Amino acid sequence: MTADLRFKRVIYKVSGESLMGEQGFGIDPNMVSKVVQDIVSAQKLGAEIGIVVGGGNIFRGVALAAKGADRVSGDQMGMLATVMNAISLKMAFDALGAPAVVMSGLDLPQVCERFTQRGMIAHRDAGKIVIFAGGTGSPYFTTDTGAALRASEFGAEAILKGTNVDGIYSADPKIDKDAVRYDEITYTDVLNKGLKVMDAAAVSLARDNNIAVLVFSIKQEGGLATILKGEGRFTLVHG
Ligand code: UDP
Repeated sequence: MTADLRFKRVIYKVSGESLMGEQGFGIDPNMVSKVVQDIVSAQKLGAEIGIVVGGGNIFRGVALAAKGADRVSGDQMGMLATVMNAISLKMAFDALGAPAVVMSGLDLPQVCERFTQRGMIAHRDAGKIVIFAGGTGSPYFTTDTGAALRASEFGAEAILKGTNVDGIYSADPKIDKDAVRYDEITYTDVLNKGLKVMDAAAVSLARDNNIAVLVFSIKQEGGLATILKGEGRFTLVHG
């Protein structure tokens, strides 16, 4: 039952912040379970979904580096934070009886599988939700770039990026009342206008591999399924 899906194979970028709920830090199990239920409903329409999870609800390397600490060590802590989030997502999938697996860009054999493209394709084709932890596995990157990288390896048509607003604006709509919302925009315009939706490395990797980026509100009515059908409100970034 996939006929009504506009996007069938996707990477969903789940930010760390979307897992912390109102508590301002850490993991809110109710939020995790909401996010996971939404993904399972979308998967039931026939979508193949990989999740790249952030870690900003727990740790960001750049914040520690700003206080004079070593950036690489900070980024390693940030990547480990994404692994914690990935484990919490996996537990929520398990609770629903939905097959899911965590694959990490960092080697943590006691905790989860190491990412390999071959292994990932096998899980994807077996109908499992693949949760990508550890970002790219390298410091100086973000999980948005991890999402563009894994989307390329996953063979995804699109990266779905849920945010606090319903698309990409010319300026922050919460600050500037004249901010204009785009229904569609090219990768190059996102880069040239310096729009703060994803970091430049992520946008250019998506452009190079011709993967659409959809930016929408995490409060979108009908959730992820609506976006996959190409309905609801989102900004489409394309070539
Ligand atoms: N990180 C990294 N390499 C990566 C992905 C992430 O070093 O490929 C680190 C980096 O310190 C980052 C942190 O992990 O700040 C958490 O990721 P991110 O800030 O992207 O999380 P989000 O904002 O999506 O919650």
